[in-house]
Amino acid sequence: MSSGNSWGNSWTFTLVDADRRMVDRSQKILELLRLPENSQCADCGQPDPVWASCNVGVFVCLQCSGVHRISSIGRVKSTQLDYLEHDLIEFMKSHGNRRAKDEFEACIPPFYYRPTEKDCMVLKEQWIRAKYERREFTGDKKCAYAVDYKEGFLWKKGRDNGQFQKRLFIYADNEGVLKYYTGDKKSGPKGNFPIQTLNAMFQGEKIKHQNGMEITCVQDGHTRSIYVYHDDGAEIVTWYNVLRYARYKYLKKTFPDTPETELIPKITRSYAKSGYMEKTGPTQKEAFKKRWFNLDSEERKLLYYKKPLDPYELGGVFIGSVKCGYQVSEGFPRGLRGNKWDSGITITTPDRQFVFTCENTKEQKEWVDAIRSIMLRPMSGHDTTEELHFRKSIVK
Ligand SMILES: [Zn+2]
Repeated sequence: MSSGNSWGNSWTFTLVDADRRMVDRSQKILELLRLPENSQCADCGQPDPVWASCNVGVFVCLQCSGVHRISSIGRVKSTQLDYLEHDLIEFMKSHGNRRAKDEFEACIPPFYYRPTEKDCMVLKEQWIRAKYERREFTGDKKCAYAVDYKEGFLWKKGRDNGQFQKRLFIYADNEGVLKYYTGDKKSGPKGNFPIQTLNAMFQGEKIKHQNGMEITCVQDGHTRSIYVYHDDGAEIVTWYNVLRYARYKYLKKTFPDTPETELIPKITRSYAKSGYMEKTGPTQKEAFKKRWFNLDSEERKLLYYKKPLDPYELGGVFIGSVKCGYQVSEGFPRGLRGNKWDSGITITTPDRQFVFTCENTKEQKEWVDAIRSIMLRPMSGHDTTEELHFRKSIVK
């Protein structure tokens, strides 16, 4: 009986003791997570990360923790579900997101694209691998992207048959172009993309490949697009950053007095919004036709295409400023109705009225908000020249 009691007491005591240690540990973790430097994912900036990357000592979000786990960066543990040993907590305490930033992000080239939580997975994965696995930004390695020449193969969508074919791509700084070949080098390039108007953006969903990238440039007043991918995420992200380096150098040289903070967003850009709308013609009596639209905020252009992966736009609308007589509103001009879709958008420019319809009111609101935010921005000298050019070249 007495031995039973004593056994019982010590068991109870051990349990209570273990519970207390557990509570202490959760308390310590909560305190660490409450620190301002740990309040955002160390890699993508998403608020309230709850995963601990045990080898580098950072707190990351669920998605970034997945990259840590599949790479050689190593073990991750959930601060909510997993058992965190005393030593690990002490390690996290002595490391944390701020110290990791000082070490692994010491020297990020200004043109390197640092992804946010909204970016695609290939950009995030390669950023995390570049940071911890390849230690590219610790300051003791030459920058892999600041090169004046790069050649390699990419899969490019064929213009006519829509099949992706392996093509040789060359970026040459001395020529100021990105070019690609359908045959060998001797037969000459098939396409030239001057760095001056080049843009590149990830378009996994549209291209239906997770590493899909759209590259555009302006040729004779029209936007030419090509669609490429590489199966290796590191390779496509290297191309992206090499092109960004080329654009950065071009912008620095062309606008030496413009502050760097203004140049960086001009290096490359994603469309502010893309998707289907229907449009009628200039007399507003033409049948509504379904078209694919891309809104380029930086260039103030709403371009439309027959299909999402077309090489050239069918036409477009220059989005000037409210001050210069441009307006956008939800709804139709008096007496007009949509065809299949009835959520209308009317854009008024100094030349004419454009009428579009969207599938639903959510789309309608998103388009109107995106277009309006461009109209509220004053026009630069470059914009005014573009506007003149655009009004002359596109009359559809
Ligand atoms: Zn993250």
